[in-house]
Order: sequence, then C-alpha cells, then structure tokens
Amino acid sequence: MQRFTLSFSALFSSAEFSFLPTRQIERVEMTAVDDRCAGTGSALLEDECDLKNTPTRSRTQRRDAPVVVVWRNVVLMSMLHTAALYALVLIPSASAYTLLWTVFCFVFSALGVTAGAHRLWSHRSYKASLPLRIFLAVGNSMAFQNDIFEWSRDHRAHHKYSETDADPHNASRGFFFAHVGWLLVRKHPSVIENGQKLELSDLKNDKVVMFQRRFYKSSVVVMCFLIPTMLPWFLWTESLWVGFFVPALLRYTLVLNATWLVNSAAHMWGNRPYDVNISPRENRFVTFSAIGEGYHNYHHTFPYDYATTRHGPRQTHWGREPQEWINCSDVSLIISG
Ligand SMILES: [Zn+2]
Ligand SMILES: [Zn+2]
Repeated sequence: MQRFTLSFSALFSSAEFSFLPTRQIERVEMTAVDDRCAGTGSALLEDECDLKNTPTRSRTQRRDAPVVVVWRNVVLMSMLHTAALYALVLIPSASAYTLLWTVFCFVFSALGVTAGAHRLWSHRSYKASLPLRIFLAVGNSMAFQNDIFEWSRDHRAHHKYSETDADPHNASRGFFFAHVGWLLVRKHPSVIENGQKLELSDLKNDKVVMFQRRFYKSSVVVMCFLIPTMLPWFLWTESLWVGFFVPALLRYTLVLNATWLVNSAAHMWGNRPYDVNISPRENRFVTFSAIGEGYHNYHHTFPYDYATTRHGPRQTHWGREPQEWINCSDVSLIISG
C-alpha cells in the first residue's frame, strides 16, 4: 500500500500533469488581508493570520514518519466504491421519484458539510439560529464524513498548516493522498501534535455539535442509510434494493468524492487570482460538483468570508453565487421566523 500511495503521489504531484491551464494572475487584494489581520481579537482569524505571516520554508519542512495503512478503511472504501459502481447499473430501473429523492439527499447532505461543518462550524463565517444549526447537523449526519467536531478540527488544521505535515490532507503528498489516501492511513504525528493546539472551545460550547458527536453513529445509520433507503419504499413502493444502492450508497459516495475534490483537484488545477503564493486554486468543475466550494484560492485567502467567491455566477445574469444564498446569515432569521 505504501508503494501504491507513493506511486500515485509521484504521478499526480508532477508539475507537468495538469487538466486545466494554470494562469498566474497578479496577486490582488492582499492589502485587505493584511488590514484584517491587524488586531482582530478573534482566535480563529488570528490563527489564520499567523499562518500568513509564517515564512513558507518553515511551513513546508517535512518530517519523516512511517506510513501505516488502516486496512479496515481500505476494505470499506473499496466496497463502498464497488457498490456505487453497481448502483449506476440500477439507475434505469429506479423511478423518477427515487432519482429526485437522490438529488435531494445529495444537496441536503452537501449542505450539511459546506454550509454546516465548513462555513458555519469550522470558520464561523456567519451566525445561525438553533433551528438552522439542527437542520445543518441532520444534513451533516446524512453526509457521514466524521462528526462536526472532528470535521471542523481537521479543517482548521488544514487552513492553519496548509500543505505541511500538520495538514490532515496535505496536497503536497499528491492527488491520491489529498483525495482519499489520508483516510486510509494513520494520521501523521504532526497532525495530532498540532491539532491539539487548535482553539476549539466554541465547538465544545455548541450544544448541537456536542449532541451530534454523542449520538453520531446512530444518527448516521438513520440519516445516511435508513431514511434514504426506506422513504422511497414506504412512499412510492420503490424496491429496497434500489433504495439502498441509489439514494443511499451512490449518493453517499458522490458527496464524499465531491468534498474530496476540494482537497485534491482544487489544490492543484485552476488559476490563482487572489494569492499566487498559495496552491489552492479556482476550479470550476469542483465548484459545480461541490455546490460552490471550488473557488478555493479565494477561500484560502479570505477563509472567514461566508461567500464562496467574488467572481463566478453572481457577476452574471444568474445572480448571486448559489451557496452564498444558503450561507447568508439571513437564512437563520428566515428559519427561526
Ligand atoms: Zn483547502
Ligand atoms: Zn475552509
């Protein structure tokens, strides 16, 4: 497995290997970042500003550590992806309602990750009322990508130590590692060591986050597998077989890969209009699949912004960036009435 990971790493980290042209556009708006970093008083924002002020060389120093494969995860991920491939064959036999339900489950679980674990809980980029937090936590359990506390802790480490050994899905180790490989091996000691230094008190004080963490396994069984499978069977007599493979397993696998593409593809391919000194990029394919999260150069430059970008659809006749509507703090007011 070690050789397998390393060979993928060598292949995908090659500077010549690129699907999208990389245009290095002049660094813009960094003055605004520097201004915002001055005397913020926010622990989370100051963490991000510390990183900006850390010399690149010291951030990228490598420390050798043995790669320990977690075979249980390798087997489970292989089984899941095989089941998702089989589910593609079942799509023609699924009813139109089941396909619509699959799309609904995809969007709901993706929101639990992007609007929930990411923008709300990892970055605190907007405030949410209790009903909205419960709604997003339920969607997050449907997405089954580790509980909100763990997801947010890993994501804060990703921003603070981006592309160093302390970054859980360090993209400098290649596409495969950043995409899924990081879940198939034991964490690098630097991830654990530096993760313990992160400020997480806001998450510990959030009752919704801690409640979801306490009942995470059962909430995943219900939201990720039982409801997506049973509801089509109960409401429009879809077969349980199709319900299990299409809205449950295929949808789950697609949301996983859409999220992982942000860590892999959006750290490798695309342009960098906001900061050419970091590797995250603007990747429109990832933006489409991960409901707005592909504008990754913007996000790593302005991680505290609830908007996904200042470019893209909202500057066209389509109106504002779709996820911006979802992430807007106005939503909490609407839901709470
Ligand atoms: Zn990133
Ligand atoms: Zn982020």
